[in-house]
Amino acid sequence: MASTIRPYDESLLRKAFDVARRSREGGDHPFGSILADRDGNVLLEQGNGYSSEGGDRTAHAERLLATRAGKAYGLDFLAECTMYTSAEPCAMCSGTIYWAGIGRVVFGQSEKEMKQQIGESEENPTLDLPCHVVFAAGQRPTEVVGPMLAAEAAKLHEEYWSGR
Ligand SMILES: [Zn+2]
Repeated sequence: MASTIRPYDESLLRKAFDVARRSREGGDHPFGSILADRDGNVLLEQGNGYSSEGGDRTAHAERLLATRAGKAYGLDFLAECTMYTSAEPCAMCSGTIYWAGIGRVVFGQSEKEMKQQIGESEENPTLDLPCHVVFAAGQRPTEVVGPMLAAEAAKLHEEYWSGR
């Protein structure tokens, strides 16, 4: 589906980067996500939970946020909401976003770029499947914007993954 950039997209994406930085400082992987309503008001934020969720390798920020959003809000409301996320949602997270019913995603760094940046990593064996491919297989529309501010997003991972 056609994607449209909104005036507040960059500033909200940078808030997701802030969440990723805090996640990294707190001992989790450097990923962060935010849920905003149609007017750009922040509703929820969520960092990665790899460590804080007890070594849960599926505790990606987007999956945790989408699950929380699905419990908190109805489908009609979430269809108008946007998830801002520091990196492109993987196939698992894209599936969760779809099932939660969040209607729009804005991401920083693409999975493909992250794979090139990080290389091989046991803790982050990047799943290189574009999220729009997952969403396109669904029955309700999910708008995707990104990569956006990709160089800033890539900085979140600097000197983090080598040796992991
Ligand atoms: Zn994921």
